[in-house]
Amino acid sequence: MHWAHLYISLASMPELPEVETVRRGLDHFLTGYTFRSGLDLHPRVLKPASIAPLASVSGARIKGVNRRGKFLWFSLDRDIALVAHLGMSGQFLVARKDRPEPGHVRARFTLKKGLKSHELVFSDQRTFGWLSVEELTEGVPTSALHIAVDPFDAAFDRDAVIAKMKSRKAAIKSVLLNQEIMSGVGNIYADESLWRAKIHPEIAACDLSVKKIGSIVDAATEVMAEAVEVGGTSFDALYINVNGESGFFETSLAAYGQEGEPCPRCGRQIRRIAFGNRSSHFCPKCQAK
Ligand SMILES: [Zn+2]
Repeated sequence: MHWAHLYISLASMPELPEVETVRRGLDHFLTGYTFRSGLDLHPRVLKPASIAPLASVSGARIKGVNRRGKFLWFSLDRDIALVAHLGMSGQFLVARKDRPEPGHVRARFTLKKGLKSHELVFSDQRTFGWLSVEELTEGVPTSALHIAVDPFDAAFDRDAVIAKMKSRKAAIKSVLLNQEIMSGVGNIYADESLWRAKIHPEIAACDLSVKKIGSIVDAATEVMAEAVEVGGTSFDALYINVNGESGFFETSLAAYGQEGEPCPRCGRQIRRIAFGNRSSHFCPKCQAK
């Protein structure tokens, strides 16, 4: 069996651009296919909140693959959706004939469209990812209802997001990571966005001007769009090699993970400071407090 990677394992958790790249791959390859079977192969892959087993998608046709934040779902010609979260290491792979089966397969689906058929697997080494069958409210599955829209969503309201951020007393980086205000920004893109906007991660959001918060939101949108662009160019019609992160990481990170490296803008060494149990990376000159 040959497995075309829709997603390749990453050292860190996939962030929105990587999930968007996976969404595009799944949407491109599987829209129009009908599930013939679904089977979970690990006790933790089916989310406890799932309203039905994976087999319940059998007979449902895929209308498209959607996303809110890092929640993906297959829209079906039914009033339920198949929802997926990649967690730390989840991958979707489409089987092909000349490659061995990957390890850590947690669920398996067969799909058909006319004479064409596919086998789709969900592989997840660290088992933080999950799948579920859920009801929809205005087109959004239950588990994603609390997630705010991200800047790529047509419903994204930039002014409302900025106003919400401005009302918070927490450090701007925490506010940027709050998925209930704006979704999509994780630790990596938060550091990159703040570097681009020249804002220190520890400044209280309420102390920043609306204009400055606007520039951070725009920088986040820009940096994530660039990462999607990199990922989006790496899959072709048959071999899906979706690894938006590595391509982006090799060339484009200015701050994240760059401790001790020169700031690409001013040459001062990038600093790393503790941020909860993670880190923040910033330029002490460009991003003065
Ligand atoms: Zn600098």
